[in-house]
Amino acid sequence: MVKKFGGTSLGSVERINAVADRVLEDIQQGQKPILVCSAMSGETNRLVALAQEIYPYYYDKAYDMLLASGEQVSISLLSMALERRGISARPLLAYQLGIKTDAIYSKARIESVDKEKLLSIVNKGEVPVVAGFQGVSGSEITTLGRGGSDTTAVALAASINADFCEIYTDVPAVCTADPRLVKNVSEIPKLCFEEMMEMASLGSKVLHYRSVELAAKFGVKIHLRSSFEKREGTLIVPEGEVLENPVVSSVTHEANTAVVKIFPIPDGQGILGQLFALLAEKGIVVDIITQSQNEEGQRLAFSILENDLPATEALLSTFLESKNQMTILKNMAKISTVGVGMKNHPGVAARFFKVLNDLSVPIHLVTTSEIKISAVIDTKNLEASANGLHKEFDLENE
Ligand code: ASP
Ligand code: MG
Repeated sequence: MVKKFGGTSLGSVERINAVADRVLEDIQQGQKPILVCSAMSGETNRLVALAQEIYPYYYDKAYDMLLASGEQVSISLLSMALERRGISARPLLAYQLGIKTDAIYSKARIESVDKEKLLSIVNKGEVPVVAGFQGVSGSEITTLGRGGSDTTAVALAASINADFCEIYTDVPAVCTADPRLVKNVSEIPKLCFEEMMEMASLGSKVLHYRSVELAAKFGVKIHLRSSFEKREGTLIVPEGEVLENPVVSSVTHEANTAVVKIFPIPDGQGILGQLFALLAEKGIVVDIITQSQNEEGQRLAFSILENDLPATEALLSTFLESKNQMTILKNMAKISTVGVGMKNHPGVAARFFKVLNDLSVPIHLVTTSEIKISAVIDTKNLEASANGLHKEFDLENE
């Protein structure tokens, strides 16, 4: 059983001891756990802030080496807590366990895991305590993107064909919206991979996107639950295993959004392909794209994460000519409703737009898929929009 503990679950000596007690109980009941840890809460943010002060927007080897250090601390401390309880623990950094990734610093992807090594440790009766969030590319340390220790956990579970991966966190379950933004959220007992994947890609920070993608690909069910309480949380399972699908199961948002508009875009064959290839080379993920043509030329608008704005602006200013005007909209947010039930229920878009219209919220970009509708709006309208949509789709906790 792979069990991942998040930063809050390991946020103090007291919490680390509580996790060790819980692991001891599991072992006494016959489990052979593999543990994955995040850094102690606040630690990765602290490291990011230091890095930003020294060199803003620098994402390279030294940055990943710095960020990965938080997990080295937490696995060491948890291992010591386990040893003190008579459990032989084996703290493991990514290079020691052969968690190999590509070389895209700060958002590396796992390519392989040395499962033989992992199993040999378990079979010796030791408890692997693995540093989440980090990998190794050649001889360099990489990191998987913020929240990436979920992905480490699922990758380990997939490598040993585990049916389940437990993710222990500071919330008891996945909720119908972010409780810091929306009043009266409900807990969701079961969700399918597809919905959780949409939610993670649309800004829900509960689980790292890649972790759900890997879970779906390898059929590893995720049990997200609280490390503070014993009750069950949310199960994330294949679609066929969820019986009742509400039309909309959650309202999700991403506050860190910016919109780039270009008009007219440069003339020439394949220009859009070239433009997006440039961004892709730098690992910049482009989200919503709209393109339209009129007599004066082609108009392009797309959204990105606001963090990627400086790099995007720098790339585009070398690519564009002076007649191509670039407009940047900052302080944007993306608000979305997600639900597999949408597949066969018409009218969701109508209700979505009516809510925003009744609140007089201007919409900058829109995109839809079979199971979601998203709109980019001004951040100042986010809270009212999220609460309005949550109510409209009957997600409130009675
Ligand atoms: N410690 C890393 C972060 O804060 C990874 C994680 O928590 O999953 O992003
Ligand atoms: Mg997390």
